[in-house]
Amino acid sequence: MQRRAFLASSAALGASLLAGCKREEKSTLHISRGRKIHIKLATSWPANFPIMGEGVEEFAKRVAEATNNEVQIKVFAKNLLVPALGVFDACSAGQIDAFHSGPYYWKGKNAAFSLFGGFPFGFTSTEMNAWMMYGGGLDIWRKLYAKYNLYPLLGGNTGVQMGGWFRKEIKSFSDLKGLKMRIPGLGGEVMAKLGINPVLLPAGEIYTALDRGTIDATEWVGPALDIKMGFYKVAKYYYSGFHEPGSVLELTFNKKFWDFLPQDIQTIIISLANEMNAKMIYNFQDKNAKALQQLKKFGVELKEWPQEIVEAAKKALMTVIQEQSNKSQDFKEVWQQIEPYWMQNRAWTSLGTKNYLEMRDG
Ligand code: CA
Repeated sequence: MQRRAFLASSAALGASLLAGCKREEKSTLHISRGRKIHIKLATSWPANFPIMGEGVEEFAKRVAEATNNEVQIKVFAKNLLVPALGVFDACSAGQIDAFHSGPYYWKGKNAAFSLFGGFPFGFTSTEMNAWMMYGGGLDIWRKLYAKYNLYPLLGGNTGVQMGGWFRKEIKSFSDLKGLKMRIPGLGGEVMAKLGINPVLLPAGEIYTALDRGTIDATEWVGPALDIKMGFYKVAKYYYSGFHEPGSVLELTFNKKFWDFLPQDIQTIIISLANEMNAKMIYNFQDKNAKALQQLKKFGVELKEWPQEIVEAAKKALMTVIQEQSNKSQDFKEVWQQIEPYWMQNRAWTSLGTKNYLEMRDG
């Protein structure tokens, strides 16, 4: 008897829930008829660029799916609407609604922006995401970008990058003196203090410059993207890296446009940007591991930096930070927020992850 009564009441509950769902469905459909939002999103990447470019395309598709096609994001590869490194200004001015790129490209606008991309000996991707999401990083980033009418979201992370491809082996400090290396950002400034001559080259020109010996070395990203550039054919020494331990990729909106979006759409975009952020890290991990195996088959020599160079680079970093802090109040403020968080995280990562890796691989 009791069981039958329970079944009857649960059937009734089920029917009322179903009715509730139907009503809900109806009203959602009704609201959706009036809404169509088109978003013009430009990237700094070439068309069909692996991992980063593909990740943005997938994000756009997922937003359309999640909004029943109310929100349509049109993704433009570099130079289709604006030049690769013109996306910041174009979005700030409202010529495009959003862009996907990396904050280290904008250090000329504001020295502090390079810190949101990462720094030598800095955060790993896990530590960086922790700082951004729970340590106040996103808040201070958004405060500074607001001055440029921009609103950044996390849009991916490369994970630890390789130190680069060298035509000659680096056995000691003196081997670095006067070497011409393509290396941008704070990493380039640190390497400059070690005697390297950092140069900037567009992506399309690096291979030829390395082949002809116009440059002696280049960094790029990691095995997955480096193998496609073909550097292993012209420089056989491949060094582990400290200059970009977890570089941030950004999905940034024109702030006026972002503020105009309905809250439910903002929530969907934030959720799917977080999905893109996470998936890009896992995709890099997967593709880097596979490409590394391939590079080994090609006879690439995997190298670690001599300890004296690592120690000198750590000292050089602190000099660079001091110089930048003297020049820029914003850089100083962001660094003051980063430094204690960095130290605190190092203690935990070292005790937890580093010790585990040493046990596993040692
Ligand atoms: Ca790089």
